Amino acid sequence: MTTDLNAGRSPLDLESPHSIPVTATATPGGEAPDVDTGPLAYARAQLSDAIAVLDLDQGVYSMLANPRREMTVSIPLRRDNGDVEVLTGHRVQHNVSRGPGKGGLRYSKDVTLDEVRALAMWMTWKCALVDVPYGGAKGGVRFDPKRYSREEVQRVTRRYTSEIIPIIGPTQDIPAPDIGTDEQVMAWMMDTYSASQGYTVLGVTTGKPLALGGSLGRPTATSLGVAHVALAALSHLRRRPTATAAAVQGFGKVGRGAARYLWEAGVKVVAVSDEYGAIFNAGGLSVPDLEAYVAISGTVLGFDDSEDLNDRDALLYLEVDLLIPAAVEGVLHGENADRVHASLIVEGANGPTTPAADEIFRANGQLVVPDILANAGGVIVSYFEWVQANQAYWWSQTDVENRLRERMERAWHRVLEYAATHRVSLRLAATVLAVDTVTTAHLTRGLYP
Ligand code: GLU
Repeated sequence: MTTDLNAGRSPLDLESPHSIPVTATATPGGEAPDVDTGPLAYARAQLSDAIAVLDLDQGVYSMLANPRREMTVSIPLRRDNGDVEVLTGHRVQHNVSRGPGKGGLRYSKDVTLDEVRALAMWMTWKCALVDVPYGGAKGGVRFDPKRYSREEVQRVTRRYTSEIIPIIGPTQDIPAPDIGTDEQVMAWMMDTYSASQGYTVLGVTTGKPLALGGSLGRPTATSLGVAHVALAALSHLRRRPTATAAAVQGFGKVGRGAARYLWEAGVKVVAVSDEYGAIFNAGGLSVPDLEAYVAISGTVLGFDDSEDLNDRDALLYLEVDLLIPAAVEGVLHGENADRVHASLIVEGANGPTTPAADEIFRANGQLVVPDILANAGGVIVSYFEWVQANQAYWWSQTDVENRLRERMERAWHRVLEYAATHRVSLRLAATVLAVDTVTTAHLTRGLYP
């Protein structure tokens, strides 16, 4: 498909400018990428590959390479000791053509605007790929919540929320948990937003506690989805779960559940890591015992039935069949990808594999199930939560989990079929399908005015 986006017109003008809130800062449309390393460069490179396959023109690339809307805010925080510190927060809406922006809120000392832009772009593709009626968005506040009291985290959350109120809402942009945030943070956001409206707005965030309109099955949705596609990919490779050894990087919201569900399916989980280090047992770790241990100790290190690996990253290079990176971006890159033995890599994290690593895995015949497919379970059940909240009618856990499995398996088969037919990687297949969906929606809406 070739499109003419009207030379001279900013691609950001494709939709009505009247919907843009006054406080949003405009992003320059169509400008060349200003970074060549880091998540935004990788996300743009993936987009560029998809644009080439779809034979779309540069105007479409520029439109999709830049966020539709972004807001950067200062968050003055009164510390418990009376000191005042000013944090920086962002909310980026990459695309809202198919519906409200949707995506998590990250609290981490490593948050940058470019990282949030990349994560927002991946949310756009993820929502399109699994056919939930949202665009993509992401938020981040640059601080380490573990170094702050719970009261301080609450104050950061409420102040950040109040600053971004003009651009969020159940029909505008719906935050959810991500690294460093949880259901309590979503409850505080929902409460702050609701106070500003004068009534309770359950649909403004997802990943909320059950008592406040959360959905059964949401806390485990991402990891269950990762396990569904990992098992589907193993079956595609004609490998039995019980004959599979796996390593899981990250033992947080995603990695812990993925390890648990794979262990339940008979996979031998031989290694896991967290921010403090990695542990290994060639015979397989008992994941339920490990979960109980971590609940008390706060780390996987020192777990009885295991040895500590000296180097946390050594986990990536173990002789395993399945590797699940479920921590942060960019951990598999051009310098280390050829040390990875796993024949199957399932991305629990967003953006763990750089384009250079993708090339190496492809050349070595290693299968990578991309993030926008593998970890889409979270946003799928976020969508279910939003639907339930809007209807004020809640489903059973079985209902939620059956619908989740159906969507994950449908997306897996669609991506696999496209990849096989066009002889491309699963990442390119998934990105092409998603970009095509978003572009079709965008161009069908047309240029405004
Ligand atoms: N943070 C999750 C993700 O990266 C969930 C987003 C959501 O549910 O909106 O997919």
